[in-house]
Formats: sequence, C-alpha cells, structure tokens
Amino acid sequence: MSADLIDGKAIAAALRESIAGAVSSLSASHGVKPALAVVLVGEDPASQVYVRNKGIATEKAGMTSIEHRLPADAAQDDVVALVRSLNADNDVDGILVQLPLPDHINSALVINEIDPSKDVDGLTEVNAGRLMLGKDGLVPCTPQGSVILAKTVRESLSGLHAVVVGRSILVGKPLAMLLLAENCTVTMAHSRTKDLAATCREADIVCAAVGRPRLIKGDWIKEGATVIDVGINRVEEGGKSRLVGDVDFDAAKARAGAITPVPGGVGPMTIACLLKNTVIAAARRRGLPVPEITVK
Ligand code: NDP
Repeated sequence: MSADLIDGKAIAAALRESIAGAVSSLSASHGVKPALAVVLVGEDPASQVYVRNKGIATEKAGMTSIEHRLPADAAQDDVVALVRSLNADNDVDGILVQLPLPDHINSALVINEIDPSKDVDGLTEVNAGRLMLGKDGLVPCTPQGSVILAKTVRESLSGLHAVVVGRSILVGKPLAMLLLAENCTVTMAHSRTKDLAATCREADIVCAAVGRPRLIKGDWIKEGATVIDVGINRVEEGGKSRLVGDVDFDAAKARAGAITPVPGGVGPMTIACLLKNTVIAAARRRGLPVPEITVK
C-alpha cells in the first residue's frame, strides 16, 4: 500500500482563491477591504521571511498588508503600546504579533493585549476559551489548516479516533479541540505518554506536532490511517540541509491511507488560514455575514 499524498500546496492555493473571491465580494457589496497588521520585533531571519511571505499573500488576496517593525531591544511597554494603537485603529481588521518575541518580552502578556475580535492568530485567552466552549471565535491557523487537510481525504471525521502528539498552546491543544468539535474521539499524547507507539497504532488519524525529526515511525501507523504531520525540522543529511517532519515519511507512507508531506503539507495552510481569519474578522467586526470560504 502507498498512501495518497495530501497536497497542502494545492489545497492552500484553492483556499486562497476562495479567500480572494470573498474579499472581492466584501469589497463589491460593502466597500470593505480587509487589512492585516503584522508586528515584528527584532531581526530574526526566519521571522523576517515569514512576515514578508504573509505580507505578499495578504496583498495577493486583495487585502491591505501593514507591517510594523520594532528593534530587538524595544521595551515591552512599546510593543504593548503599538498593539493598543492597532486595536484602536478602525482600519485594521487583523493583528498578528510574530512569535517568538525577544526573551525580555512576556509573549503571553503582549498577545493578550490584542483585541480578540482582531486576534487572527487565535491565541488570546478569549479566543482559546471560545474554542474550548465551542463558541464562534478566531481559531489558530495551523490547527485549523490541519483539520481542513484531514477533511479533504475523509468524508467525515465523526467517530474516528484521532491521536494528537504534542500539547502546545499554539498547535496541539487547539488541534485536539477542533478534532473534538468534529466528533472525533481524541487522545492527546505528549512527552510523558507511556507507550507512544501503541497509542499511535490505535489512531485513525495521527497528528504530529512535536518538533522531533521522524519521531513517529512507520510501524506506529495503522493500515489506512490519515497522517497529518505538522512538524518542521531542519536536519543535515548527506552534507545537505533539508526539512523533515515529525513522521518518518517514507516508512509511514507504506501503511497510511493518506499523508501530508513536509514541506508542502500543513505549512502552506497556515498562511491561508491567517488570510481566512482576517476576512472573518473584517466581516464580523462590521456585523456583516461572513462570506463562504471553502477549498472545494
Ligand atoms: P512545542 O515545542 O511548543 O511543543 C512540542 C510538544 O511535543 C510538547 O507538548 C511536548 O510534550 C511534545 N513532545 C516533545 N517530545 C516528545 C516526545 N518524545 N514524545 C511525545 N511528545 C513529545 O512545539 P509546537 O507545538 O510549537 O510545534 C511543534 C512542531 O510543529 C514544530 O516542529 C514546529 O516547527 C511545527 N510547527 C509548524 C507550523 C506549520 O505552519 N506547519 C506552525 C507551528 C509549528 P510536553 O508538553 O510533555 O513537553
């Protein structure tokens, strides 16, 4: 058996096309052009690339991209003041503070300053609480993208056993909540899980969000299972640097029914879902119906 490849690049492109359509309809019927403001503190090279890519994708979808850069030694109060000014700016629909922030800044405190209605990363306590309570809110992008990918290969997730490996606030926990909302039976595994191999072998859906290259072995995957690999790990192999996931892709592919590659799986969905959240925020803030956004 060789698994179907879940092509995150193509699915993200379809989602972005649908988002561009939603933006056009918001603009045509209500004169609204959604705007996303990104705050970057410091000069971390990876963060600079992410911020640039987010800006390009935002503009391509027909929205306004605003970038605010602060020096690496900016005081926490200055970052908070900037977030507050973006909260107060009626032309800004979405606010994203690029993580990680420099060590001297309390990230949780800064994130919680974001107006929940503009929190397009879905990381404020209010949006985390809404997700937990099953209420409408803004849902973290990577978990949201992971579920969209799983749904492209499964007619319904209802009743399936999903094992989420990793319990971070950014990925694992919200992903488990979203799968629960899809009526999966969810197991959350982490570094203290006693027998991770046996736990994974029971899963119809394995979601790996750990940050350990190829931790999940091929023979941990049940025949026909869906594998969503969130991990992005840089490894040096054969004198070359390459990206690999948390799943041993080649071995898992031989047993899974469908699997996401790394790169080209969950990664492209993250930015697409950020754009989707920006459109949702722009519509909801104005009391407008949220335009339909789909990958079909
Ligand atoms: P964190 O480091 O915050 O969390 C890692 C989680 O993995 C923790 O819950 C930890 O458990 C668990 N873990 C660590 N070692 C093991 C182990 N040996 N067995 C089982 N569980 C283990 O990472 P993130 O959630 O932020 O990110 C996870 C991965 O996803 C990373 O590779 C990251 O680069 C990637 N990522 C990809 C994105 C994308 O767009 N595709 C976006 C965000 C992240 P414990 O809690 O017990 O310590």
